[in-house]
Amino acid sequence: MKPQRSLACGKRVSLLLLAWAAICGVLAPASAHATDAVIGVLGYRGRQNAIQRWQATADYLSQRVHGYHFRIQPLTLEGMRQATAAGQLDFVLTNPGDYVDLEARYGISRLVTLRNLRGGNAYTKFGAVIFTRADRNDIKSLQDLKGKSFMAVSKNAFGGFQLAWLTLLQHGVDPFTDFSRLVFNGFPQDDIVYAVRDGKVDAGTVRTDIIERMAAESKIDIRTFRVLASRVTPGFPFRHSTALYPEWPFAKTNRTSDRLAQRVAVALLTMPEDHRAAKAGHYAGWTVPLDYHRVHDLFRQLGIGPYYRPLTLRVMLQAYWRWIVGAIAAILLMATVTAYVLGLNRRLKHSTLSLERALRQRRRAETETQKLSSALQQSADLVIITDRDGVIEYVNPTFEHVTGFSREETVGRKPNLVKSGMHNRQFYATLWKTVLSGEPYHAVFTNRRKDGSVYYEEKTVTPLRDESGTVQYFVSTGKDITDRILSEERARQHEAQLAHVARVSTMGEMASALAHELNQPLAAIVNYARGCVRRLQSGTGDPVSLTEALENIAAQGQRSGEIIRRLRTFLRKSELRRNPAQINEIATEAASLAELEARHRRVELRLELCDGLPPLLADGIQVEQVILNLVRNAMEAIDTARSRKREVVLRTGLSPSGDLEVAVEDSGPGLRAGDTDRLFEAFFTTKEEGMGMGLSISRSIIEAHGGRLYAHPRNGGGAVFGFTLPALDENNAITKRTHDIRR
Ligand code: ADP
Repeated sequence: MKPQRSLACGKRVSLLLLAWAAICGVLAPASAHATDAVIGVLGYRGRQNAIQRWQATADYLSQRVHGYHFRIQPLTLEGMRQATAAGQLDFVLTNPGDYVDLEARYGISRLVTLRNLRGGNAYTKFGAVIFTRADRNDIKSLQDLKGKSFMAVSKNAFGGFQLAWLTLLQHGVDPFTDFSRLVFNGFPQDDIVYAVRDGKVDAGTVRTDIIERMAAESKIDIRTFRVLASRVTPGFPFRHSTALYPEWPFAKTNRTSDRLAQRVAVALLTMPEDHRAAKAGHYAGWTVPLDYHRVHDLFRQLGIGPYYRPLTLRVMLQAYWRWIVGAIAAILLMATVTAYVLGLNRRLKHSTLSLERALRQRRRAETETQKLSSALQQSADLVIITDRDGVIEYVNPTFEHVTGFSREETVGRKPNLVKSGMHNRQFYATLWKTVLSGEPYHAVFTNRRKDGSVYYEEKTVTPLRDESGTVQYFVSTGKDITDRILSEERARQHEAQLAHVARVSTMGEMASALAHELNQPLAAIVNYARGCVRRLQSGTGDPVSLTEALENIAAQGQRSGEIIRRLRTFLRKSELRRNPAQINEIATEAASLAELEARHRRVELRLELCDGLPPLLADGIQVEQVILNLVRNAMEAIDTARSRKREVVLRTGLSPSGDLEVAVEDSGPGLRAGDTDRLFEAFFTTKEEGMGMGLSISRSIIEAHGGRLYAHPRNGGGAVFGFTLPALDENNAITKRTHDIRR
């Protein structure tokens, strides 16, 4: 719309100018001294070519504009800029691109636009054509040119490159980065057409009408080429790939007066199409100035010419301030985050160090705790951790009832030692002993509950040392072991009952021998008594003989009484009672009982007692029962072997380790291989009427006394059965053994 309006407006202006020129031409007298007017012409094909083409136009103007002598000044693009800047030119005739540049920089303004003559017709517009060879099937669109070689006139050539440049950019192809090769070949443009035809480059660009002209001149076959991004513009017959732009303008510079400019414009507008000057310049006269905004747009989009802005700091700030502000903000944010992260890292490192320290301490504590595991294993009722100044903490809060302490008293409160009673004073006295010695301490206390009942408490105090070995804490565990003690007591009573049963059954087995033993004194008593009666009845009984008979009766009665006493003692159902005793006495008592049966079996029982043996702490009846059992077994063994030598030796003494020892040797068949391990098991017997309980009970009794029962073959045949028992020292304390202190 806009160009059309300006065109209409331009036509009106030209009519007015024509009328004004007619008047001037009639009235103005010819000047005698002409003033020089210099026309700067872009001589892109060289100076000579420019003069040849435009001199006739200059002459035409000299002729038509009186008082001025017009002169052609051929210039390069750079020369044109310098001359305009220096104010050396009056008029400028150049391509549209150069015009727009000079207009923007130096304020030149167009007067008329060239009507170019092409193929016999006049055109005021032109464009550019981008082309390749028609047989290049790989290049059918502008995008296909990526990676290909391309040829143009020069970077500054308006029709020879810049038009194609914008069109390529609009199709997503940047000629400076996307081509494999970009060749600027200069003028003439014909060489570019040949280069594409001959395959020297893949594609190229030239201004419109070049290809058609060369074809008309038979220099090329137009069918050889394919036009890329081809467009159709009504009234414009030439192949083109770009938009069309106005032809060369004729412009005035700043120094030229408006009047002279008007006169020149009128002269040019009124030049006949077929004027000599037009022919020389290959054009068909001039028209009103066209709109060159489109050229401005192109330069703006390409960022060249007047729109070229070198990358100064200010330009950069203007263009990229948002990015710069964004980048600074990002950097500040990153710096803040980095500082924060560094701070975090520092804190983390610090925490890691203290954590490691804590871990090391914990590991040390764990090692100590492991040492205490045995003390704590049985889930003590009460655990007290104590430091040097006293109780600092109670542990094991799950324990609901602590004798001597209420739960309230023990959890979370420092206990009042005085209030906590006798047992605790006793306990803490012990604890301080441990503090002094630094050794683990273990004891069992008997205490009385509030309801008066007795209970047993087992206390263990274990010192905890630091790395230097100094005692820092004490862990005290307390455990109510009343149940254990009572069940042990019950077991002991049970064993005592069992032992009693065994003694009774032993006596049962010895019944016939006992009967025999008792029969003899009884028979003797009866005989003596009858003899006394007979003597008294016959009157022959003198006091002397009667007294002797009666003394015999008394002796025999005493003998029987002794046997019965032994039996009663042996069979007494007594509580387990341990008293200091002499092993020789026990052995003699046992031998006396055994003797009854020995005679019956016609076995010789020999006693070999060691003098000066220390006493022992024992239940004498039970130990006697063991010895009797061993001796009876020995005699039974002799019986089964039917040995000629029927001898049992009962020996006492001290073992190499200092214990008291009793051994029973026999001349029996000895021990059968394989039986040795099982001899002491309950119900193991090789006898037809045996129970297999004798040795088993004997072992329980001996072990309950802290001793050991053993059996081994005797040198020269037979067996040795015996046991050891701990002796008491001169203070009546058990030697070489620790024992619970039980009060
Ligand atoms: P029982 O006498 O009722 O068999 P014991 O426990 O007293 O039960 O003895 C177990 C077994 O040990 C006997 O049956 C016997 O085989 C063996 N034994 C015990 N004493 C001797 C010994 N002096 N010589 C050989 N074997 C013996």
